[in-house]
Amino acid sequence: MHDASPQVVPVSKLPHFDAVVLGAGISGLVAASVLAEKGERTLVIDDYGHVGGNHMDWTSHDGYTFDVGSLIFQDDSPLLRHFPELLGHYLPIAPTWGRLNPQGKITDYPISVRDDIMAAGPVGLTRIALSVLYARLFCKRMANARDFARYWIGDYLLKRSGLETYMKRFYGIAPEQIDLDLARKRMGWISEHASIGTLLRKLLRSRTAAGPVNCQLARPKDGFASLYDVAVERLTKAGVSFRLSAGTQNIRKIDSGFEITFDGGVVFTRRVISTIPIPAAERLCGMASQSALDTITLISLYFSFAGERGFSQSIIYNFSHYGAWKRLTVYSDFYGRVNGREYFAVEVIAGGDVRSVDQAKEDFRRHTQANGLFTGELTLEGSQVLESAYPIYSKGAAQHAAQAIDALRAFGIESMGRQGGFNYQPTARVSTIEVEAALGRN
Ligand SMILES: Cc1cc2nc3c(=O)[nH]c(=O)nc-3n(C[C@H](O)[C@H](O)[C@H](O)COP(=O)(O)OP(=O)(O)OC[C@H]3O[C@@H](n4cnc5c(N)ncnc54)[C@H](O)[C@@H]3O)c2cc1C
Repeated sequence: MHDASPQVVPVSKLPHFDAVVLGAGISGLVAASVLAEKGERTLVIDDYGHVGGNHMDWTSHDGYTFDVGSLIFQDDSPLLRHFPELLGHYLPIAPTWGRLNPQGKITDYPISVRDDIMAAGPVGLTRIALSVLYARLFCKRMANARDFARYWIGDYLLKRSGLETYMKRFYGIAPEQIDLDLARKRMGWISEHASIGTLLRKLLRSRTAAGPVNCQLARPKDGFASLYDVAVERLTKAGVSFRLSAGTQNIRKIDSGFEITFDGGVVFTRRVISTIPIPAAERLCGMASQSALDTITLISLYFSFAGERGFSQSIIYNFSHYGAWKRLTVYSDFYGRVNGREYFAVEVIAGGDVRSVDQAKEDFRRHTQANGLFTGELTLEGSQVLESAYPIYSKGAAQHAAQAIDALRAFGIESMGRQGGFNYQPTARVSTIEVEAALGRN
């Protein structure tokens, strides 16, 4: 019998790179672009078989293409500085946003002065005013996201508008457990919208107020592949190599750098930039986990529909007190109907009684029917379950993440991005800016 022990290849014989980037999401692609600009010979490794990370689509046999979430881009994004060719592949769209409020009405997102405040009637208005006054006078000390929202809009409106319920649905934990710093970053719109002056202006101005000044864009109709192919092409020309479906196994620190082993290969590099989840990087390095960092599991349901949907906006947020679904995006508004049918994706955060696709589907049907939405023929075309969709920003998690990132840095790994930096990055724009800053590009 053969000796099955692996052959040790001397470091000098391994393929050498100046830098290896773990993760080919937006952060990884931007990191590779910055490193290539600096003349560093770079390899990008990802466990997925595609680039773009969470920018992920799914196509049914009948030709419907959906995404895991509501993915919208802008023509002034700094990502285009790295990959200008993307612009020609995006589809200009004119999305509109709405929200199902706890009173069962589809209304303005994130808040409607008419439907959430004026419609409360004289008693409700008095209660809103008194609770805002109370919060502004006696609730200045804030410890979590709920305190932040209550300070600005008061306890009564927080419940009446459904914002409190939505926060729990979005973050996967009770608003009392959500980190205050995140609330300040993510919910800055509350403080902006909640000043008396802004509310009055909102009330007086026409309902067709000016939208965003930049142009809103969607991925090509057939999915992300043709979009990110041009980024890979540009990077490849600049000398960047890619290993996808890599099955990354471990990172071994050696004197002059790191040895990275993945399915079918070992490479040597002086530098490792990690954009993968922090616990995954810790595991690859053989480090004891410094952190209990939880992440959200996102269930995406893909429906086609014929009938009366009950609203005109292309994106609807669920602010009602019931139903596990968080947001839906009507793709047929952007790309046209397929076989005469509309089609849309629904995002559901797994948790509580809704942990499987079947549970999510039944819950969505029940809840939308009860609210008079989607009267007609609704068919589930498919679904996707995405683990580690985004970090859960519970109190203290940011500190744990910072310690873990420090420990990785001490080991020699530069960890950044939505997962690697445990950063709130709602858009590719933010991911781009943060990676540029971390790698010292002006
Ligand atoms: C539901 C949802 C909706 C969004 N909507 C928008 C939007 O409308 N507009 C917008 O601009 N942005 C949107 N974003 C945010 C945008 O996706 C992020 O800014 C961006 O995806 C962050 O990219 P990233 O590279 O940091 O992380 P990710 O996209 O998470 O990429 C991380 C990569 O690491 C890889 N990886 C993980 N583990 C390993 C391992 N062990 N070895 C190798 N590789 C590994 C993964 O396969 C993945 O490719 C949305 C995100 C989500 C989840």
